[in-house]
Amino acid sequence: MVIKQKLEKIKSGELSAEDNIKQFLDKIKAEDEKINSFIHVNENALEEAKAVDKKEKKGKLAGLAIAVKSCISVTDLPTTCAAKTLEDYKGTFDADVIEKIKAEDGIIIGMTNMDCFACGVSGESSMFGNTDNPKAPGHIPGGSSSGSAAAVAADFCDIALGTDTGGSIRNPASHCGIVGVKPSYGRVSRYGLVDMSMSLDQIGPLCKDVYGCALMMEIISGKSDYDGITFDKAVKDYSNFKEAKGLKIGISKDFEKLCTDERVQKLINEQIEKLAKATGSETKEISLKYVDLAIQAYYPIVYVEVFSGTRKFEGRKYGKKIEESCSEEVLRRILGGKEISKAEHDGAYYKKALLTKKLITQDFNKAFEDVDVILTPVVPRLPHKFGEKLSVNEMYAYDAFTSPANLAGICGASVPAGTIDNIPVGVQVLAPAFKEDVLFNVMNSLEE
Ligand code: GLN
Repeated sequence: MVIKQKLEKIKSGELSAEDNIKQFLDKIKAEDEKINSFIHVNENALEEAKAVDKKEKKGKLAGLAIAVKSCISVTDLPTTCAAKTLEDYKGTFDADVIEKIKAEDGIIIGMTNMDCFACGVSGESSMFGNTDNPKAPGHIPGGSSSGSAAAVAADFCDIALGTDTGGSIRNPASHCGIVGVKPSYGRVSRYGLVDMSMSLDQIGPLCKDVYGCALMMEIISGKSDYDGITFDKAVKDYSNFKEAKGLKIGISKDFEKLCTDERVQKLINEQIEKLAKATGSETKEISLKYVDLAIQAYYPIVYVEVFSGTRKFEGRKYGKKIEESCSEEVLRRILGGKEISKAEHDGAYYKKALLTKKLITQDFNKAFEDVDVILTPVVPRLPHKFGEKLSVNEMYAYDAFTSPANLAGICGASVPAGTIDNIPVGVQVLAPAFKEDVLFNVMNSLEE
């Protein structure tokens, strides 16, 4: 429990917030040129830490260094989305999640690199250069929250925020050997987040340990008057783990079929067996018969929503016109979304995709009548090396295991499961919507 112990040290005065932030800033300065996890480092971080040290009663994040994905608005810090479109744009307000972090004395250490407008799985589509994988140099760190995952893995911060629309927190967490959580849809306010696909996006934490993610989730979760889809459901003390005992663990052949590297599935199966043994749980085969359609349903929805959400970037209010200043992948989605949503198609593609989304949701709801959690790999393969050329479809296939949770609105996480050829691999835990407490208890058992 790295984060818990550090917080105790800061609260008891054994470690100052200033020293905590300073050692991260020094490390970033010395090592981030190689990794490129930050687009911007907050020059005021040290002063802000000193102010926390002066406080008699410190908040729950007392001087911890928090890295923020560059699509979340922080007052006066660049919210670039790693796009040329917004390269000169600075946040004019704090997103709901940032307001909550600051209220608990977390220090925003900087804004992280990412795939342009959160569209991607590899970190290679940032317009500010690739982010390297600190745990497997020369390989992609995963994306789109590439910088956030790399910053945690490289010890440049305590906790990072990412966003997950189809896997962008869990996927880089898996490749970088850390923990990452995608909250249930509507658990965390999206106010102040630049939309990628608004019916699927959620902000969530990345950290080296489960405790840090659980603590961050307690802080950022809850209803917001500024985000109409947040739900008024109680936020539990997720970091106060209860022992997971006698679980019903769901496993699914429908999912297994999607794994393209046998070694990955084998490693995950071993983890499932270990967890079952340690917690006196049983595994149960469940049917998710539409899960292989997740990618096909995900992209029409995303294309249409990316097209719609980016119409505000026409060049007058925010920097440059997006079509002239974004990555190839973003442009593909804008043009594709424009086509799909044309009146003459009468919703043919979009409506089909929404119907499939519903079928996948129903399948999960039914499965969760019989099991507490479902365990799968996070990613069906190992991360590729920089320079390897993948087709668009090969890129999209990275999200076969993660996008179903976004479509179904349930919560999910990646927890380190081991390595293959020295490359980290994560196990995915899925739990019903708003059962983050169950999710964290199982994650905690997996970590132990
Ligand atoms: N890789 C997926 C995409 O490109 C997911 C991105 C995300 O979760 N932000 O759409």
